[in-house]
Amino acid sequence: MSAGEPLLQMALRVEQDIFLVRQRGREVAAAVGLEHQDQVRLATALSEVARDLLRTVGGADVAFHVVHGPDGRRALRVDLTPASPLPGGRYEPQSGAVAHLVDTLGVTSEEGDTVVRMSRRVPAAAQALTEARLAELRAELGHSAPGSALDELATQNEQLIAALDEVRSQRDELAVLNAELEETNRGVMALYTQLSEELEETNRGVVALYAELDEKSAQLRTASESKSRFLANVSHELRAPVTAIIGLGRLLTDSASDPLTPEQSEQVELIRASAADLLSLVNALLDLAKAESGRIEPEWADVDLRAVFGQLRGTLRALTNRSAVELVVEEPPAPAVLRSDEVLLSQVLRNLLHNALKFTERGEVRMTAQRDDERWRLSVSDTGVGIRPELHERIFEEFYQVPGASRVGGTGLGLPYARRLVTLLGGTLELTSEPGRGSTFTVVLPASGA
Ligand code: ADP
Repeated sequence: MSAGEPLLQMALRVEQDIFLVRQRGREVAAAVGLEHQDQVRLATALSEVARDLLRTVGGADVAFHVVHGPDGRRALRVDLTPASPLPGGRYEPQSGAVAHLVDTLGVTSEEGDTVVRMSRRVPAAAQALTEARLAELRAELGHSAPGSALDELATQNEQLIAALDEVRSQRDELAVLNAELEETNRGVMALYTQLSEELEETNRGVVALYAELDEKSAQLRTASESKSRFLANVSHELRAPVTAIIGLGRLLTDSASDPLTPEQSEQVELIRASAADLLSLVNALLDLAKAESGRIEPEWADVDLRAVFGQLRGTLRALTNRSAVELVVEEPPAPAVLRSDEVLLSQVLRNLLHNALKFTERGEVRMTAQRDDERWRLSVSDTGVGIRPELHERIFEEFYQVPGASRVGGTGLGLPYARRLVTLLGGTLELTSEPGRGSTFTVVLPASGA
């Protein structure tokens, strides 16, 4: 930090000199480009230190320098060399706040002398202080005559008033800010209240909706139970008379009975066929009602899939004797055992095979079994008419039959019943199908039972 020739130096010996030091300090600060506030700060710090030194060591020599600070930036430095040694070689300003007015303030040793030194950085805009400019300033400051103590007092007063004004305006600004803040707070509170009211309202709505939903599902459950009960009762009541009709029909055509005319026997045959259809519908309804009301309890046992497949192969082969459809029942891979109810499982598979044969005119119907990890996948696929994607769920509804396909007969109860049974067995019944190419129904069951 080379100081070079000072910009200005002066002696501080009597009370009057304090004003002088202050005034010249402000002039130098202004000359090197410090902003107004900083000029006042430096001048104030200087006059405080000057007062302290005058009282404690009888004065000082004051020198102003423009130097390069440790950060490379220009700074205004004031050295006050005490007139006599500082007590203990130390200096503490009387007022602690003085140190905050400048960037640095402290005691340092300069060529054996103890010097009180303070500095303040010159702002970026005024950094271009060339040596030539400094020489100019030196000359100007040397010539300018210092004003009187009274002048400096007047200036000091003006500065004080300006500072007070600034404090007041800052206080006013603060008041405005506070008012705005309060306003904003009120707004936020209002918004918050509105939001929580809306939330409460929404919550009430949701609660009401749930209550309604609960009620509706209770009603639905009751309706479904009533329907099952009704179906079961009606079917049961119908079964006896329908069975009687079939029996009577058989009696009428029996060779032991009186012979009928060809027309009569044709009509009796029609009655018997219709009654048989009716009986299968009644039986299907009864089965479904029983499954829905939870009156079917699976009898769990180890089921030998090979035996089940073999039996179905045997009973259904008769159906394909005269058709262009080949029935292929593949041998399930060993160990072909699963925990299930053999009767219910056979019923489901028979139903699927029946449908496949019913809706396939040529090609093949194939039943396969695959084991993957913990599950068995039992598939019945055909090369028949197929089912449009939008109907894949509908065909599992009671009585639903794909329009146009109904000419092959049936009740529309087979699939809903099959799905019920598979659910009871802890599995799912899935379908993939493409119109014109065929369908695959797959029963997926846990190997270890439900
Ligand atoms: P049903 O066979 O007695 O009509 P289902 O409940 O078993 O009743 O089947 C419902 C409908 O699903 C059938 O009428 C038919 O339209 C369709 N369907 C079932 N299985 C097949 C299949 N393998 N191929 C094509 N359509 C099928």
